[in-house]
Amino acid sequence: MRPLVILLTFLILSLNLPAQENQELRIEPPFWWTGFNHTELQLLVHGKAISATSVHIRYPGVELVSVDTVPNPNYLFINMKISPETQPGSFPIRFMKEKAVVAEVRYELLRRKDPSNRFQGFDASDVIYLLMPDRFANGDTLNDNLPGMRQLADRSNPDGRHGGDIRGITDHLDYIMDLGVTALWINPLLENNQEIYSYHGYSATDYYLIDPRFGTNEDYLELSDNIHQRGMKLIMDMVFNHCGSFHWWMEDLPSPDWINQWPEFTRSSYRGGTVSDPYATPSDSIKFVKGWFDKTMPDLNQHNPFLKNYLIQNSLWWIEYASLDGIRQDTHPYPVKDMMAEWGKRVLDEYPDFNIVGECWLAYPPAVAYWQKDAGDRDGYNSNIPSVFDFPLYDALKVAFNEAEGWSSGIVRLYDVLSQDFVYPDPSNLVIFADNHDINRYLDTQEDDIRKLKMAMAFILTTRGIPQLYYGTELLMTTGEDKGHGSIRKDVMGGWPSDPRNTFSIEGRTPEEQDMYTYLRTILRWRQNTPVIHTGRLRHFIPQDGVYVYFRFNETDTVMVVMNNNEEETVLETGRFSEFLNPGTTGTEIISGVSIYPLRNLVIPGKTAMIIELSQ
Ligand code: CA
Repeated sequence: MRPLVILLTFLILSLNLPAQENQELRIEPPFWWTGFNHTELQLLVHGKAISATSVHIRYPGVELVSVDTVPNPNYLFINMKISPETQPGSFPIRFMKEKAVVAEVRYELLRRKDPSNRFQGFDASDVIYLLMPDRFANGDTLNDNLPGMRQLADRSNPDGRHGGDIRGITDHLDYIMDLGVTALWINPLLENNQEIYSYHGYSATDYYLIDPRFGTNEDYLELSDNIHQRGMKLIMDMVFNHCGSFHWWMEDLPSPDWINQWPEFTRSSYRGGTVSDPYATPSDSIKFVKGWFDKTMPDLNQHNPFLKNYLIQNSLWWIEYASLDGIRQDTHPYPVKDMMAEWGKRVLDEYPDFNIVGECWLAYPPAVAYWQKDAGDRDGYNSNIPSVFDFPLYDALKVAFNEAEGWSSGIVRLYDVLSQDFVYPDPSNLVIFADNHDINRYLDTQEDDIRKLKMAMAFILTTRGIPQLYYGTELLMTTGEDKGHGSIRKDVMGGWPSDPRNTFSIEGRTPEEQDMYTYLRTILRWRQNTPVIHTGRLRHFIPQDGVYVYFRFNETDTVMVVMNNNEEETVLETGRFSEFLNPGTTGTEIISGVSIYPLRNLVIPGKTAMIIELSQ
């Protein structure tokens, strides 16, 4: 079913009206639910000259509060109130002109879903697996090219569509679960009917429709069910800052201020700090917020109250419809920040356990902390967004293992960034990562040195925060010669029927790939059942001679992590750590499974991390 476009049969009751049978009348949200705390609902109605009609609704518990018109006569906004005792069901919405019904549509109110096993949020007990749906696996080659889609599949073009889809993800859920991750962040799946670069998903052309080349809305529901049946969680990628230049409303905007328009194309400065900078000139923050992210990405104006409602309701619709557990918000500082704060509050009011992670791509901890809920920002701002990505830690991780050790270089960079956690209201709710779909794969930033990749993975899987892995890291996928975005987002070998080998299976992997897969799987599966890593305290020691040591601990358990950033093997004398180690302490290194006793002089190979579970 295509739920967004409701086909109407116009009831022609007046000879004065032209016959318009089966004209498409778009109503969004296409349906809603009873039982939300927030009882107001605003419907966007799009149809030719619809503003000239009067609206009539009769359903117990549903009150038609008002109808708003906007400069474009092809739009109406219906303001309804759904009282708490309203029963699920459907009712007609009648559009009348001169005492005649000119259009009628049935609107459905569904019963809200049982929250158990849904809307769970995500936290430091989770590990997020990020995948790009066009590049993960092609489970249905019949949907690669579809009529009406502007861009055809072309796997030879690194920036083209390759054909991956929801079926491909569903087919490999056992692979993902077996690896030991617990949550899926899938790059946007909404329709991106653009002429170029449509594969990446950040140019939505319909906010209520899964791109048919990925599958249907029902396929997404089925994927969500399959994820939840496996005890995993689903995080949806959302974009409020911009839509695609071929979005359906671009040809018929409700009002000129629906998007931010400039006399000539004006690009955002991408300087996210300007909206928190106490010294910023307003002209800089305006250009950052109202400038366009790209020529093909019209900048939405969240000051417009109808658009604001539209976006908030759209996110609630997807949470309830697809039983989401979390949202990743793209370019989080770019939209109007007060609107984003209201959005965060509305989501958490309805789904108290939910989590939202904002992409706040900023270099310094205070700039990132500004965007985390309850940060106590001096300008009075509260984002209401529980989680943000830890870009400062990523910046440190990218260089820490490549540099010579020095006062402020080398592995001390990790220590230094973490030492600034006092600026965050909740450091454990930061999403930490070594790479993602926008930056070079970690291995590529480390001269393809697998030892460094393993250190990075051991680090993000044991320090504070919510780890996020990028698909294919477990298979040693690299960026290769081509450094463009397309090469960061390569296809998984074996995801396409014509691939020469299938890296999703042990038989299809090289020994090196299998070694990396096993390394990650071992830590991930151990981490799942080690609560001290999820909620335990972190204490770290100043790195000495290129060796960084930290502990995760609670009342019953202690884990010691040792990272040797030297090329050479190092013998670590452990006397400094006597607050955690006593003469009888023994340890088990969880990657190798080797027992260690005594823990007095630890031998650590060069460029290696050891994760040691302690027993007193
Ligand atoms: Ca396909």
